[in-house]
Amino acid sequence: MEDCIFCLIIKGNIPAEILYEDERVLAFKDVNAQAPEHFLVIPKEHISNANDATDEALMGRLSITAANIAKEHKFSENGYRLVMNCNSDGGQTVSHIHLHCLAGRQMTWPPG
Ligand code: 5GP
Ligand code: ZN
Repeated sequence: MEDCIFCLIIKGNIPAEILYEDERVLAFKDVNAQAPEHFLVIPKEHISNANDATDEALMGRLSITAANIAKEHKFSENGYRLVMNCNSDGGQTVSHIHLHCLAGRQMTWPPG
């Protein structure tokens, strides 16, 4: 989608600190980190949000990619938080589905 920030990152038109890439997903650091470790995992195809997700394998891949990066970067044992915001009440600001991975500090519950 032409005016989607994350599609532009996928195309390489907006720079990002890429952590992982394969034929279906891309992981990159969040530009406005909310924790010492904060990255996003997105599908390479434009899907607006969780309501539009139908591909179970792709959705699973987002989560497994995040876990693999957590292991590789050695914060999997201490732990991390995976978050997917959906639409307005969910706090979603970019309409290209993305899984947040946050780590490196104690998370609190409930989230804000
Ligand atoms: P949301 O609020 O939609 O769940 O999360 C969107 C996330 O995308 C935010 O944490 C925000 O900091 C991040 N973000 C927005 N624009 C950019 C960008 O151009 N580059 C990167 N790396 N992250 C972005
Ligand atoms: Zn997009």
